[in-house]
Amino acid sequence: MDCIFCKIANKEIPVELLYEDDLVVAFKDAKPIVPTHILIIPKEHLESIADMDDKYEMLAGRLIMVAKKMAEKLGIAKGGYKLLFRVRRDGGQEVAHIHLHLLGGGKMSENIHII
Ligand code: 5GP
Ligand code: ZN
Repeated sequence: MDCIFCKIANKEIPVELLYEDDLVVAFKDAKPIVPTHILIIPKEHLESIADMDDKYEMLAGRLIMVAKKMAEKLGIAKGGYKLLFRVRRDGGQEVAHIHLHLLGGGKMSENIHII
């Protein structure tokens, strides 16, 4: 399957993984929109949150808990951060493999509130 995030998760494309466990990996966004911009993705190819059913409840929780721990590790937890899932076309999702954006490293401006 021609999915860029599957290739990253499978290490077919060399990307520095900041975190890896049995279900997810995390790495820096290629075009950061804030000083700390990390993507947390499932290893399994799932197109969007809308494609998850109840059996993925644990995976959904893992994505969020890894983001929370990454924020602590990267020193942005105290100040705060934003977690963002874009879902399908109207949600502005461009890569059709679930990814949770961890956005931080500075006070979110007015503009960031609509991202
Ligand atoms: P979306 O708009 O789908 O929520 O976000 C996709 C994100 O993936 C964008 O922020 C984009 O910069 C990032 N991205 C797309 N392709 C790559 C890639 O090959 N490597 C990395 N590290 N990030 C990517
Ligand atoms: Zn994929």
